[in-house]
Amino acid sequence: MTTRTLNLDDALYQYMLDVSLRDSPLKARLRAETALLPTARWQVAAEQGQFLALLVKLIGARRILEIGTFTGYSALCMAEALPVDGSILCCDLPGDYNATARSYWREAGVESRIELRLGPALETLAELDKPGSFDLVFIDADKANYPTYLEHALRLLRVGGLAVFDNVLWSGRVLEANPESEDTRAIQRLNRALKVDERVDYSLLPLGDGMSLCRKR
Ligand code: CA
Repeated sequence: MTTRTLNLDDALYQYMLDVSLRDSPLKARLRAETALLPTARWQVAAEQGQFLALLVKLIGARRILEIGTFTGYSALCMAEALPVDGSILCCDLPGDYNATARSYWREAGVESRIELRLGPALETLAELDKPGSFDLVFIDADKANYPTYLEHALRLLRVGGLAVFDNVLWSGRVLEANPESEDTRAIQRLNRALKVDERVDYSLLPLGDGMSLCRKR
């Protein structure tokens, strides 16, 4: 048994945010507005948004693909970290939340860096025909397609580029022995496959609901 990550209770989690989260009134407002939606849990945690922004700068990303955008929080965080000529292509289904995303991107002054393409992500991805044209792919859409999204990400990333998957610990449901949910089964499949996937360098972080980092070799 290796030494496990410490258990973050509420007080320690709050301390972590107090000493590390660099927030802005705009981002806090977007989180508060999103929290009112029935699907609020689709949004990444604030510390995950900050971590994504750091990743963008660490790898010098200029071209980002996001699969699953919702009210635009993660895209906003990454867009703010991009150089002025950087861009994000966001894939999501049409919904009321598209307008929320766009209005916050506009207010933050990053809307010119973000293109939101509406429709099934698999259709949008099939239209992207330039292999190696992205530096970072953030995947936070329908979990049942996670294994398929990995294949698209590896096709579309440059060598050294990064695929990031959210919700890979799935609130602990990944522990179920025979899950009925196809979402849970797909995440389990992805996690098992990534451990031995020679195409990537890999680490799973217990950040938010679990985030996997896969660097294309
Ligand atoms: Ca998520």
